[in-house]
Formats: sequence, structure tokens, C-alpha cells
Amino acid sequence: MKILCVLYEDPSGGMPEKYPLSALPEISNYPDGMPLPSPKGRDFAAGTLLGCVSGELGLRKFLEDRGHTLVVTSDKDADGCDADRELVDADIVISQPFWPYYLTEKRIKSAQNLKLAITAGIGSDHVDLQAAMDHNIDVVEVTYCNSRSVAEHIVMMILAMVRDYHPQHQIVKDGGWHIADAVKRSYDVEGMHIGTIAAGRIGYDMLRKMAPFDVHLHYNDRHRLPAEKEAELNLQYHETVESLVGVCDVINISCPLHPETEHLFNEELLAKCKPGAYLINTARGKICDRAAIAKALESGQLSGYAGDVWFPQPAPVDHPWRTMPNHGMTPHTSGTTLSAQTRYADGVREILECFFDGHEIRNEYKIVSGGQLAGAGAHAYSAGTATDGSEEAANFGST
Ligand code: NAP
Repeated sequence: MKILCVLYEDPSGGMPEKYPLSALPEISNYPDGMPLPSPKGRDFAAGTLLGCVSGELGLRKFLEDRGHTLVVTSDKDADGCDADRELVDADIVISQPFWPYYLTEKRIKSAQNLKLAITAGIGSDHVDLQAAMDHNIDVVEVTYCNSRSVAEHIVMMILAMVRDYHPQHQIVKDGGWHIADAVKRSYDVEGMHIGTIAAGRIGYDMLRKMAPFDVHLHYNDRHRLPAEKEAELNLQYHETVESLVGVCDVINISCPLHPETEHLFNEELLAKCKPGAYLINTARGKICDRAAIAKALESGQLSGYAGDVWFPQPAPVDHPWRTMPNHGMTPHTSGTTLSAQTRYADGVREILECFFDGHEIRNEYKIVSGGQLAGAGAHAYSAGTATDGSEEAANFGST
């Protein structure tokens, strides 16, 4: 079989010769008891760069030993790109949310042999899920592999935005010491109302990680959590997004992008937020209306916006979120720490082993199966597509 793997570019100075840590901490199961990815083998060193082209997710030996062909590229957006040329006879496509190969309906139609699309990470909105269902292509992701990595990043961003870390760090780098400049937007998080849209694996873990800061915790979700999970963190449930955003000082977004959540945070909803709220979004850029976010920061309706997700990706150089006031954006990195890469590389290999050997892929990994939403996808997504407009990613690098 032919496996097309679309990964982000290597580090600009080449692959690292050494890493800060010589080993990763031991982690056994995920908090709900779900086992970590468990492939039969591993051909890479844990804690190394696996998500870039030369890292190849550690798959080459495994695939070639079994007689398969692996093609790896980062060239994914422009007309005639490597990925489009290789897709036409590929059986399996592997892509990552950090550097998404948008599997639009047009691309899916061009891929006559395609059977399986694997997301090396979590969030398969870069695949036109409706087209995948219509063309009987299964879609799977490595559920839970980086959920806790993202929750850590959210905590970092809440603290960074509320305490106004970025300008303070810049003052030091610039050789300055102006305390009043440094603290004129800086607050404590203690006592604040922190809410999350979606209390799934990431959202709930973020709430748990924030609880020791002595804050009030809120959530909205399509399905209410069991009473004991609410009681554990003293959570207040909101039946509507509007109810939550009206009372929270910090609003976190942790739901998947699907037709129901696309542009959920538009001008209308932002106007209903508590004035001066901070908004954190590590879920997907397209859940927010890009112009409305920039406008809300300019007017002060939002005090800050931070996240690592954009639409499209890579974000064009003139994307307003690069230059809007009081933002703490990073490129899409929260789920691709070296720790997370090891888990999702293991997960991709586990999925491939199951696929080749005719074993059932874990239900938790399934998004689309047999022409319909399945497993984790049936729980968290709605039918349809959220890939419209992704062709703009080809503009990255142009002004
Ligand atoms: P998860 O455990 O499946 O949680 C998703 C939650 O979203 C579920 O509780 C789901 O509710 C809820 N939800 C779906 N639609 C909703 C809506 N319209 N309103 C409110 N809640 C809604 O997944 P996860 O691991 O927490 O990941 C969540 C998302 O984060 C992913 O889909 C992905 O987009 C993003 N993510 C980003 C990164 C990154 O690197 N930045 C990494 C991983 C994931 P029900 O299940 O109750 O329906």
C-alpha cells in the first residue's frame, strides 16, 4: 500500500543533535483509565522530533519492512503541491492538525484508492467529514494523545494573559525596568470566574488544573457531566453558551470544530461576553470569527485573546491575529510537545498495525467509519464539513 504522510517542516537549522531532556517522565494510563497508545513495536527514540518531515512519525522502517511505500512531504497547499500529486494513488493519508493537509471534497474525489485518513493528533476537522462519509473513507484520530498537553497550555495562557506576562518579558529583553509599564494590565487569577465551552478531555482537565488557584469554575457542554464529576470541582453548569460567557472573566474554548461550532464566537456572542473578559482558544481558529475577535480587542470588550489555533494553517502573514492588541498567540504547538509527539506517533503505528492486520481499531479513535460518524466522532462532531476557505493556506509567505 502507499501511505502519504504530510508533516510540518524540519527545524530551520536541521534536526537537533541533542534534546534538553534525556528521557520523558513515565505516564501510565490517561485519567479515565484509557490505556496509552500500545503499538507492538517502536522504531524511534521517545522525546525526539517525530512530527516533522525527517521525523517521519518513526514509521519508515515499520512500513517498508512490511512492503509498503511511505511518501513524506510538507508541501501541501498550492496547486500542484507534492501532497496533491501523491494523493491520487495513495491508500492511506496521515496528516496533523498543526500542519493540516485539508482533505477537501475535491481532493477526496481525486484519491481513487483512499481508504483511511489518520489524524496524528486530535481534531479531524481538516478532513471534509461529509465527503469522507459519502466516499466511504474511514477517519481516525489518536484520541487523548495530547489532550493533557493542551490543558497545560491553556493554564499557561490563562496565567500569561491575566497577569500580562508577554509585555513584562519584552521589557526585560529590551534592557528595561519600568515597573508601572509592566503591571498596568496585570491582575491575579484568584477569585475569578473561569468557564469552558466543552468539558471533554481537554476542557475538564483544564478545569481540574485550575481548581487549586481558588477560582470559580463553570462549563457548558452538549452533554451534562455526571454529578460526581461536577461535585469533584464544584462546577456550575450552564445550559447555554450565552449564559456562561455573560458571567465569566476567563472563557476557554475546547469543543471540536464542526458545522455547529463554526464561527460560534461571532460579533453577536462577543457582545454578550462579560466586558473585559479574556478568551482562550486552543480548539480551532474557525470557531471564532477572525475580524470580530480583532475588533473586540480593539474596543476593550475583550481584555485579551490567546490560543494556538488559526484558520487556515499556516496563517497568512497578514492574518489580523498576528498584530491585534493584547493577544498571546503562538503557532499551533500546544498538542505537539515532544512528549505528545511520542504518544501520537505510537498511536498512529497502533492504528496502522490494526488496519494492516485486520484488527478492530479502538472505538475511541474512530471519527468516521463505514460511511457514518462513529466512536468519538459520533459523540463530539456533527455531520457536514468545516474545510471551506482552507485554500487560503496557499497564501502563507505571500504579503
Ligand atoms: P473530547 O474529549 O472529544 O471533547 C470534546 C468536547 O466538546 C465533548 O465533551 C463534546 O461534547 C463537546 N462539544 C462538541 N460540540 C459542542 C458544542 N456545540 N457545544 C459545547 N460542547 C461541545 O476532545 P478533546 O480531547 O477535549 O479535544 C477537543 C478539541 O480540541 C479537539 O476536537 C480539537 O479541535 C482541539 N484540540 C486542539 C489541540 C491543539 O494542539 N491545539 C490538540 C488536541 C485537540 P459531547 O461529547 O458531550 O457531545
